[in-house]
Amino acid sequence: MKVHTRQVWFLTGSQELYGPDVLTQVAAQSQVVVQRLNASGEIPIDIVWKPVLTGADAIRRACLDATFDDACIGVITWMHTFSPAKAWIGGLTSLAKPLLHLHTQASLELPWSTIDMDYMNLNQAAHGDREFAFMETRLRMNRVTVSGHASDPVVATRIGRWARACLGWAEAGSLKVARFGDNMRDVAVTEGDKVEAQIKLGVSVNGFGLTDLVHAVDTVDRGDVDELVGVYETEYDVAPVLRRQGERHDSLRYAAAIELGLRSLLTQGDFRAFTTNFEDLGGLRQLPGVAVQRLMADGYGFGGEGDWKSAVLLRIVKAMGEGLPGGTSFMEDYTYHLGPGTPQVLGAHMLEVCPSITSDVPRMEIHPLSIGGREDPVRLVFTAAPGPAVVVGMSDLGDRFRLIANAIDVVVPPEQLPRLPVAHAVWEPRPDFVVATEGWLYAGGPHHTVLTTAVPAQVLRDFADIADIEFVLIDEAMSLDHLRDRLRWDAAYFRLRQGL
Ligand code: MN
Repeated sequence: MKVHTRQVWFLTGSQELYGPDVLTQVAAQSQVVVQRLNASGEIPIDIVWKPVLTGADAIRRACLDATFDDACIGVITWMHTFSPAKAWIGGLTSLAKPLLHLHTQASLELPWSTIDMDYMNLNQAAHGDREFAFMETRLRMNRVTVSGHASDPVVATRIGRWARACLGWAEAGSLKVARFGDNMRDVAVTEGDKVEAQIKLGVSVNGFGLTDLVHAVDTVDRGDVDELVGVYETEYDVAPVLRRQGERHDSLRYAAAIELGLRSLLTQGDFRAFTTNFEDLGGLRQLPGVAVQRLMADGYGFGGEGDWKSAVLLRIVKAMGEGLPGGTSFMEDYTYHLGPGTPQVLGAHMLEVCPSITSDVPRMEIHPLSIGGREDPVRLVFTAAPGPAVVVGMSDLGDRFRLIANAIDVVVPPEQLPRLPVAHAVWEPRPDFVVATEGWLYAGGPHHTVLTTAVPAQVLRDFADIADIEFVLIDEAMSLDHLRDRLRWDAAYFRLRQGL
């Protein structure tokens, strides 16, 4: 399914040496590759075929055009024949869009009984792509390489995942984050270098006074509140005490006013992510609960306690997962079940878990919040749907950002949790609890994460590569011994890569 109006460009490399007849075939065959990929249903954005490139000037022009065209969010290259790679230096050094190198050829089978030198000259990507990959490597270019025939669903899936990473990258480049209040006092991992985040990721993160938010909440239209309360009653299983005749209906109305006020400020400022801090609520009577949950469900990024890195990451992962089944939420590793049986993580937050990760109708409830010292907040309560998922967090190590991800399996809780008044997820980390938690701790991963059942870890890996930030994945393929060494090597690599 195509979810976006943006495009990926397909650049085919060749040279004039072969004459016009061969180049006509190169053009036709590369268009077939593009058509196959577009028809696969695995790639969320259109791949747009561009005329075959045979010389340095045309290559440079195509790369500059790709860089300057806002609709183009990535470039796929394929050397159909042989394109001497010195001709690509000018182009590749001017290309500022994510790059995927497709290593393929037009036909699947080799025509053993009829093959001649004409066929050999036309179908030589086997070495043409090696020439190109040498130049990518020589230029120290981050890129994704995908090898295989265009009819192979694995190839289309792989390109689709890279295209989703490109969607995340395009989103980061124009993302504005509103921080209502600073980060929670003395918490370290939620801090970070916001200037560096704008340099590396493009995101703009700025603080806004609570006064504006309180004013927006206090001045919402009563009719709008009535209407939103109606939406709540339609979409959720609202506790009787919160309904129109209920004794705590005013709390529900105030929660709706928070949503309306927050939504209008975010819309006015074109913010697609935000943070709050329960230590700093100004004149707000409730900590925003259901408001944050519903905004996340609409695609907004969010981080609690001023955690702008989680807010950024959540919005990016939501952009990457657009149109996919499953959901994506702000999350926190809260408490463990260490046995008997397989150890499990109970993840939740004070209130702010996104209903996109459940298949149940959320219950809308009101309960006291033991911290914060405000009125009881209204929240949605539900359990996350079971299935494979990823939790991912971002730490600022001072000289670089590190993304840490863990492949997990969200499970049905072994028992009911009738007294837990917040939305939650229960999961079993891969490869097992000990390796996953020790690995996470060695990597300095945060306690706030993004949990996604929509976006596979490979998309996150591609994104980190595009952004040129570190990526650590804890899954079945990881060993702790290797991880401990690798984290040291990464320290040297990223320090050297940033130069002076
Ligand atoms: Mn927290």
